[in-house]
Amino acid sequence: MVKGAGIEVPACAVARTPEEAKAAAESIGYPVVLKILSRQVVHKSDAGGVVIGIHSGEEAARACERMLREVPSRVPGAVIEGVLVQEQCPPGLEVIVGGKTDPTFGKIILCGMGGVLVELIRDVSMRVLPVGEEEIRKMVRGMKGYPLIRGFRGSPPLDEDALVRTISLLSQLFFREDSLSEFDCNPVILYPEGCRVVDIRAFTGEKAVSDDELPSLPIHPGLLAPGSVAVIGASADPSKIGYVVLRNLLSFPGLVYPVNPRHTEILGKKVYPAVGDIPGRVDAAVIAIPAPAVPGVIRECGAKKIPLAIILSSGFREEDAEGAQREEEVISLARSAGMRVIGPNCLGILVPRLGLNATFDPVMPRAGPIGFISQSGAVITTIVDWSIPEQIGFSTIISVGNQSDLGFVDYLRILEGDPNTRAIILYIEEIRRGREFLRAVSEITPRIPVIAFKSGSSRLGTKAAASHTGSLAGNYEVYQAAFRQAGIIPVYSIEEAFDVAELLASEGYPQGNRGIVVTTAGGFAVMASDFAERYGIELIALPERMREELDAFLPPMWSRENPLDIIGDGGVERYARVFDVMTRFQDDWDIAIIIAVPSALLDPLHLGSEIARFSKSTRKVTIGCLLGGESMRAGERVLREKHIPNYREIEAAFRAVGRALFAGKRPSG
Ligand code: ADP
Ligand code: MG
Repeated sequence: MVKGAGIEVPACAVARTPEEAKAAAESIGYPVVLKILSRQVVHKSDAGGVVIGIHSGEEAARACERMLREVPSRVPGAVIEGVLVQEQCPPGLEVIVGGKTDPTFGKIILCGMGGVLVELIRDVSMRVLPVGEEEIRKMVRGMKGYPLIRGFRGSPPLDEDALVRTISLLSQLFFREDSLSEFDCNPVILYPEGCRVVDIRAFTGEKAVSDDELPSLPIHPGLLAPGSVAVIGASADPSKIGYVVLRNLLSFPGLVYPVNPRHTEILGKKVYPAVGDIPGRVDAAVIAIPAPAVPGVIRECGAKKIPLAIILSSGFREEDAEGAQREEEVISLARSAGMRVIGPNCLGILVPRLGLNATFDPVMPRAGPIGFISQSGAVITTIVDWSIPEQIGFSTIISVGNQSDLGFVDYLRILEGDPNTRAIILYIEEIRRGREFLRAVSEITPRIPVIAFKSGSSRLGTKAAASHTGSLAGNYEVYQAAFRQAGIIPVYSIEEAFDVAELLASEGYPQGNRGIVVTTAGGFAVMASDFAERYGIELIALPERMREELDAFLPPMWSRENPLDIIGDGGVERYARVFDVMTRFQDDWDIAIIIAVPSALLDPLHLGSEIARFSKSTRKVTIGCLLGGESMRAGERVLREKHIPNYREIEAAFRAVGRALFAGKRPSG
């Protein structure tokens, strides 16, 4: 695999007998290493198939003889091809470099701390291929063990450039070679000058997912802003979905046409026997009828030139083979009529700003800046219910269902073009067309933050892998790496998704990680330092002039450092004067976190408006952290109204900032 590619490997020769081993060792020069050659022996050292430190021909012959004798008894059924006699490289830092083919994203490359501890330490950094050297360098620097490469506690720095070049060459070879599905180079030994690949294992297999899939069809911009909606399967029976959908649409200011051949009026609305009987233009059809009847209705909608079908019905691919076939029929009918399809098997869509609730979720959320695309309808209904008292607002909520036509990529494109959407949350179980998804999303994230919560992190059900790389790069890990590469912010709970979205939707990406914390409580000042460190926020040293200005009016016991503990006896006025100083010094920081606790001297409502005034006076990110219960709610409400993120828990505030900071591809780098 690596011959002639510019990758440094130790001199080596194959021997089949102890005599050949001796001769090979003599000609290579000492010391040498002997290794068993057998496809069936995956971990050679575990099987007694590696002998290091051979200094003479006799030793080489003896080691070869013993290996040929003992390995077959340790690995029953192993076919031994011989013994590899290899030049022994001096000790250095052992790194693993590997590649594999992921079912969603195709070929990936990884590196991590190598040698025998790989699977214990599990320190890996990875990227979806192809990537350039710049990205590979970032990958190398993303290893937890990177300080060992940079030079650690007096040890000399190692040749990072050589490692980057080697990984780059290996990844090009791997990406180009269709027949290769996986490889492990463990270890690659890294030195102050150069690096050597001493163990390589490659696997052949199926071709990677192809990159030349059908591109997404164009989408007309008003697709999710219909002026008229038909409800096919509108029902008079309150226990039916067709009833709930129609009832939800009663508050829609556009035209609503119930369709049902067995009724003339439902909920006070005239009912049409078929879509073809509707007199005017119809922009969207919500379909809530049993699956077997869906293809026929799609044909009628096509004849009526309806551009969008929202198929709520289940009984398609998610059910059985017959359902899958039905789904294909529906899509091909829709395609030939130029109609786009949401679903099937979905909850529908919600656009609060337009008063459009085309779902069977009875609750209409508030209008706001967050776009939410979810692979689970139940997650949507839960979130919507919770969002009302939390005063979280949405631009659009989409339940993707089976994604038989429109999928994550299309919905992302739609929200990208919507000026009301300022942050996008994805709830993902599985993505189809992974590479196309990454391409699209990397174009979107520099302008609109995309936050993703991916379920399915447990290792249950994942097959044991034959290679180190296979075991280090499970599908979930690859998702996380791919997300970061595309600039998506990965989060690990739904709550966290909203914490981060709220921050980014109102304040945009932080310009850097320099933080200032203001509080009146020593305990929270200490916690703030801890959380800042945990989430990568640098609490800056206060500029001398700023400290002097603060000294002029703060009580003598104030902390005189960051976090600013301004002592709780001064009320809101004291906060306000601190804010004024911070505004003047805003070039020195990027994020301000204002922590307040209940106190007889503090009017939360007044504090809320002072924080809002402060936020308006700076170009930087301002965050409220009004801790406590009911007594702080009045302040919270002010912050919400002014779109200033607020957190009731101190850790949540720092975590949200931390996640936002480490989005892979922020415009500010
Ligand atoms: P396996 O991973 O199948 O057990 P390796 O070829 O990786 O076998 O050898 C095991 C360990 O032996 C390596 O991690 C490395 O520490 C050491 N080793 C192997 N080959 C060499 C070599 N040519 N020079 C120096 N050390 C080596
Ligand atoms: Mg190895």
